[in-house]
Amino acid sequence: MYYLGVDLGGTTIKVGLVDENYHILHSISGPTGRERSAEEVLKDMAMLCLEVLKRQGITEKDIHSIGIGSPGIASPEEGVILSSSNLNFNHVDVRKEIQKYIQTDVYVENDANAAALGEVICGAAQGEDNVVVVTLGTGVGGGLVSEGKINRGSFFGAGEIGHQVIRFGDGEPCGCGRKGCFEQYASATALIRQAKAAAHLYPDSKLISLAKEGLIENINAKVVFDAAQAGDETAERVLETYFKYIACGITNIINVLEPSMIVLGGGMSAQKEYLTNPVTKYVQEEMYGGLSLKTKITAATLGNDAGIIGAAFLGTTLK
Ligand SMILES: [Zn+2]
Repeated sequence: MYYLGVDLGGTTIKVGLVDENYHILHSISGPTGRERSAEEVLKDMAMLCLEVLKRQGITEKDIHSIGIGSPGIASPEEGVILSSSNLNFNHVDVRKEIQKYIQTDVYVENDANAAALGEVICGAAQGEDNVVVVTLGTGVGGGLVSEGKINRGSFFGAGEIGHQVIRFGDGEPCGCGRKGCFEQYASATALIRQAKAAAHLYPDSKLISLAKEGLIENINAKVVFDAAQAGDETAERVLETYFKYIACGITNIINVLEPSMIVLGGGMSAQKEYLTNPVTKYVQEEMYGGLSLKTKITAATLGNDAGIIGAAFLGTTLK
């Protein structure tokens, strides 16, 4: 039996055929073209799915289901995307649209939730029964998985870890409408902003010399880590503060949910122990009542494949 997983993004639709051992056998992608109607976007998605099946010499009868990870809020059992500002989708019956072209079960899920499920099924959190995946990328996303099931809350909107306020009052404004959200301090975007500000104050910093063409505007997350590992004090200070921001949000999560594991995903997970070791240290320092930290904090291992693999197996976790 095979499983089709789709990562529906704001710019790209990625489709992967996954086998029972969680291996992606074949994947293809195409542009989302999000300025178009939902019907047109979903027709292209269905065509990509059919193309993957054709290339692998199988048919819709050989697949268990199609699972789709999408930005926004989704109702998985109905197969409906309730709202996605990223895609201009509003109450779109994805199942009905896809089934015009392919006769199989169709499930949809928030993309961060799907990626979290992937890490639990076959990534960093295999065998863990109570997991929070925190995605540190352009923004900060989150997914809660307990006993192998995604916790969506009562109205499908749970897991918005990036929008807990960690700085009340004068915090950075956030796209969600609040100020001081975790996302504005702990995302890769935030790290780059913090590093650029520091580089303006300390023009001799390696933050600038290691950036492409020696330009502040070209500082990225990797430059910050590289500069710190080369002993640059400005980069070290930027990262120390950044790790403390991450630790603040993660300690809040542990205080509320006490998961057995927190997985740090997104682009920042490429830094592995350079990220998880200092974050673990600062979380330990903030633990409630000085208790010893039992929650493991680790880096995601599936990278960009987590979304496709998690989506592919949505149909098996819902039933
Ligand atoms: Zn926010």
